[in-house]
Amino acid sequence: MDQTRSPFLVFGAPQIDEAEIAEVVACLRSGWLGTGPRVAQLERDFAIFRGVQHERAAAVNSCTAALHVSMLAAGIEPGSEVITTPLTFCATVNAILHAGLVPVLADVDPVTQNIDPDAIEAAITPRTRAILPVHFAGRPCAMDRIMAVARKYGLVVIEDCAHAVESEYRGQPLGTFGDFGCFSFYVTKNITTGEGGMILGRSEEQVARARVLALHGMSKDAWHRFGDKGYKHYQVVECGFKYNMMDVQAAIGLHQLARVEESWRHRDEIWRRYDQAFAQLPIRLPAPADSETRHGRHLYTVMLDAQRCGIARDDFLEAMNVARIGTGVHYLSIPEHPYYQRRFGWRPEQWPNAMKLGRETVSLPLSPALSDADVERVVDAVRSILHG
Ligand SMILES: *Cc1c(COP(=O)(O)O)cnc(C)c1O
Repeated sequence: MDQTRSPFLVFGAPQIDEAEIAEVVACLRSGWLGTGPRVAQLERDFAIFRGVQHERAAAVNSCTAALHVSMLAAGIEPGSEVITTPLTFCATVNAILHAGLVPVLADVDPVTQNIDPDAIEAAITPRTRAILPVHFAGRPCAMDRIMAVARKYGLVVIEDCAHAVESEYRGQPLGTFGDFGCFSFYVTKNITTGEGGMILGRSEEQVARARVLALHGMSKDAWHRFGDKGYKHYQVVECGFKYNMMDVQAAIGLHQLARVEESWRHRDEIWRRYDQAFAQLPIRLPAPADSETRHGRHLYTVMLDAQRCGIARDDFLEAMNVARIGTGVHYLSIPEHPYYQRRFGWRPEQWPNAMKLGRETVSLPLSPALSDADVERVVDAVRSILHG
């Protein structure tokens, strides 16, 4: 087949069904586009899905916003250090900086690609106040050990669950171990609202504060202000941000969430197909899920060591592009970026595991929108590129 004629397979394409489309249309027709009943419903549904009371869930317009206001609502004093992973999206570190805090990186485990609890403990100083683990690719971090370190040193824990909507550790949903769990509903994530995010919090008071911070610092939200219960004055009680989710966004999310298990199972099938199809290739496949955990199946990442497989990572990305298949890199390690090098003097070599992974990793398409034929196209392309 002439691959150049195939349609481009967009990496992380969402699956949007008629239910989402009808709900968005109904929302538009209702005349209520902003934060309102559909956002409240999404918060309730998400809380039920993760087994928490609905007062402990707050929808926002991104995971970045969720991380930012969670750190503020946790009351971490400005200038404190927050330990996180170098193998993450820039938003994790930027949110720490926006909260007036100081990011400290602790290297990852080369197999799980998650932050190493020993490295966390080694990075603790008298100024450390929080740990911000990222459940990479949907694989749960070692939450027993991380929570033990947090208890020992009296630290706040904020979980970046952007990849981990469905993940569980010893039967407990991720995002419910720490003081806060922050989820992303960005287009490529396991559930999407286009842009969007969700906060789960352990303390009802802190979640209420995060909610106030996410809407200008106003004591009553706009739904109450303009609703049918009569005009309500609001009071500005903090200098907040504009981080609220719209009902138009929640309209998409309600049906994405209703299908969350179905799309997890579909991605799990694709995952198994890749595992089986690539077992004999000279590349490293994702490590099997740890026992007593549920993997979120968000990213299928393979490692290409140029010596071993005969092609450099970036040349492989280009060859996939020629085959009209979108790929991703999750992630070049944080200290590869010039901003952090300039600001903190960081060098990638200081976190060698994250550096090596970031230079070898490729994420293959893993989306419920993929047909069986799409998956076979990916399999054929990867095999033909690696066999030369
Ligand atoms: C996507 C992502 C974010 C940011 O999510 P947004 O909803 O786009 O703000 C944060 N952390 C990680 C690990 C991510 O993958």
